[in-house]
Order: sequence, then C-alpha cells, then structure tokens
Amino acid sequence: MKRISVEDKLGKTKFVVDESKSHIIIDKDYLDKEEAKRLCNVCPAGLYKLDEQGNLSFSYLGCLECGTCRALSLGKIVTEWNYPDNGYGVSFRMG
Ligand code: SF4
Repeated sequence: MKRISVEDKLGKTKFVVDESKSHIIIDKDYLDKEEAKRLCNVCPAGLYKLDEQGNLSFSYLGCLECGTCRALSLGKIVTEWNYPDNGYGVSFRMG
C-alpha cells in the first residue's frame, strides 16, 4: 500500500472560504509572547505566525477546524472561535 504524505493529503483537502468573515477572531496585541509561540507551534496548518519583531499574524484561510487553538488559548489570544457557517469550511477527502 502506497504511503501518502501529510502534505499530499492536505493538497487534496477542499476549502470553501467565507470571505465575508473569519470564524476565528484573535487579539494580535495580547502581551504574552510565549502564548503566541505556543499557538504557532500547535496549529497543524501553520496559520499563526510571529515575525522577527514578535508581531503575531493569523489567517483563517486554510483552517482545518481542528479546534486546537481554541483548546489552548480561548479567552487569551483566541477571543472567538466558531465553526464556519453552513456550506463553508473544510472538506477532507483523504481521511
Ligand atoms: S482550528 Fe486548528 S487549523 Fe484552525 S487555526 Fe486553530 S489550530 Fe489552526
């Protein structure tokens, strides 16, 4: 049986993006940079990024809806977390 890499699996994943709003809202000015580093490390899609000046950025495009950032940081950096509205979001095609 042929093994498929995570990258190849993600490449087959389909996203329908709601461009009118993000389903995850974050506080980019949250002062705890260690918390920001943890988010960067745990998001499997790599959607949280810290630049060299320590500024946190986030894009909801490509979110896998795993809920890891919600479990880690809701009420801290993650101020709001919802699933995308019906008809939007991720569709997994490779399990
Ligand atoms: S729900 Fe998962 S994939 Fe989406 S931003 Fe949070 S950690 Fe990343």
